[in-house]
Amino acid sequence: MRAVRLVQVGKQLEDADVPIPETGPADVLIRVEAAGICHSDAHYRTGISKIDNLPVTLGHEVAGRVERVGKDVGHVAIGERVCVHYLVQCGRCEFCTRGLEQFCRSGQMIGKHRDGGYAEFIMVPARNAFSLPDEIPFEVGAVMMCSSATALHALNKARLKPGECVAIFGFGGLGFSALQLAQAFDCGQVYVVEMNPAKLASIKNFGAVAIDAKAGNPVEQIREATGGKGVDVSLELIGSAATMRQAVQCLGALGRAALVGLTAESMSIFPYAELINKEAEIVGVSDHLATELAALMEFVRSGRLRFPQSTLHFVHLDAETINAVLDSLETSTDQIRTVIRGTSDT
Ligand SMILES: [Zn+2]
Ligand SMILES: [Zn+2]
Repeated sequence: MRAVRLVQVGKQLEDADVPIPETGPADVLIRVEAAGICHSDAHYRTGISKIDNLPVTLGHEVAGRVERVGKDVGHVAIGERVCVHYLVQCGRCEFCTRGLEQFCRSGQMIGKHRDGGYAEFIMVPARNAFSLPDEIPFEVGAVMMCSSATALHALNKARLKPGECVAIFGFGGLGFSALQLAQAFDCGQVYVVEMNPAKLASIKNFGAVAIDAKAGNPVEQIREATGGKGVDVSLELIGSAATMRQAVQCLGALGRAALVGLTAESMSIFPYAELINKEAEIVGVSDHLATELAALMEFVRSGRLRFPQSTLHFVHLDAETINAVLDSLETSTDQIRTVIRGTSDT
């Protein structure tokens, strides 16, 4: 089968001809119909996120049709539409047995530690294949399994309750989902902090208040807009110490700041004024959980989380094209998701 693989860190991805994977008794083979190209894939290519086991087929946002099932597999059948949860877990350790597979010591990420979806077929443990409702197109099934799932996990970690108001820092793929999901939870007003003029305009179309970070300190703008109270929940999706600090500073009493963006910088906090006195919390957010996917699927199926056609671009499985998409991801973080479309037309 054809696959597009990372062969050497710092080099372009390459077209390859590889065997169709064997399936064990608890595995499924999926014909890939859609594979999202993610900003993380650009980081794997440059080596910002380290991969040891090269060559590897990238692609962790995958949806398709079941082609073959192992003899022990009961919950999905041949021909069924599925999407793939990208964390492969051992299923037995102290974390997996509590449904916390992102901490599994022998856990593997699909498209990083094992072959992913930039290929005609992908083999995964059957427990990673989730039935995809007919109403959800393959391309949406693919892209919702990364940034949307993580946005949902962030809102869950922040314990967002109906009526609470939210500040979102960054309106890329994560922020685009986080805003819609917060609204699906019947939150109060949402303030989205951005600098890009086109994104500021689209934020208003989604019924949120756009906070232009270039027009003044976002914390002061949020304080003013909330009558001095601050927000109940803030999400930092950019990955900079400056915006993480703002996400903490804009909290009101009992507020929770969920930090999702990745950075190696350190941030400073004034414990008394910014945390203790408000009983505020700072929460770390990493990936998402299989147990959250049913709720996510329902938000998409019912139209509360939408990916308009204008936000999805399509390409074919071809190294040169995919490399060009990764190049463009390195220079921008818009809400447009590029999806590799599969070979069969369904
Ligand atoms: Zn991703
Ligand atoms: Zn485990």
